[in-house]
Amino acid sequence: MGEAKRKATRGATGASPCGTCTMCCTLSHIVALDKPMYRPCRHLVGGDGRAGGCGVFGGPERPEACSAYECAYHTAHRTAHPDRRRIPHPLDAGAYFHKDPIENAIVVFVDPDRPLLWKSSAIVPILRNALAGGLALVIFDRGRRMTVRASGHLDEILQRDYVAFADAQGIPREIASYEAERRPQPSAVSSGSAIP
Ligand code: SF4
Ligand code: SF4
Repeated sequence: MGEAKRKATRGATGASPCGTCTMCCTLSHIVALDKPMYRPCRHLVGGDGRAGGCGVFGGPERPEACSAYECAYHTAHRTAHPDRRRIPHPLDAGAYFHKDPIENAIVVFVDPDRPLLWKSSAIVPILRNALAGGLALVIFDRGRRMTVRASGHLDEILQRDYVAFADAQGIPREIASYEAERRPQPSAVSSGSAIP
């Protein structure tokens, strides 16, 4: 949620570290908006949401949860943290993350449109350092929730697409909203493709 929505009121050249990213306005669960994970927020404006921003930024309709949230990339740049250049922009990494002090974990949200990109991004060494420092990883990837507590487990996830494997096995997703929100619209289904 961060400050991406400033673009809706300040224009695309606004100074927000978010740039054109609005990933957390789609992938996150926002109780105040009755918005499940993977559903684009109804307040996103402009194209697929990435080109626009928050239509209620600065207004009373914008939930407190939105004002309070920022991903690690946003935090690092807002505070000019020395590590900010180590954290890739979410659109470059295909994922964003934050530290959850209650869970003592790094929580990662993977872009379902580019689900493998993060595995070759600069996020990986950050996650390795977090594990070495005693933090767990909670990874949300295509409607599945994976908890990682050991570097060997992270290596397995990096090397194999366990989400695709689970899908092929028909294993139910932990995040039930994924399939409903990602279901192709009727117009896309009737595109005449020869592939069933
Ligand atoms: S994921 Fe981060 S960079 Fe992207 S909109 Fe949210 S706060 Fe901004
Ligand atoms: S209200 Fe604005 S900041 Fe909050 S999820 Fe919706 S578009 Fe994003």
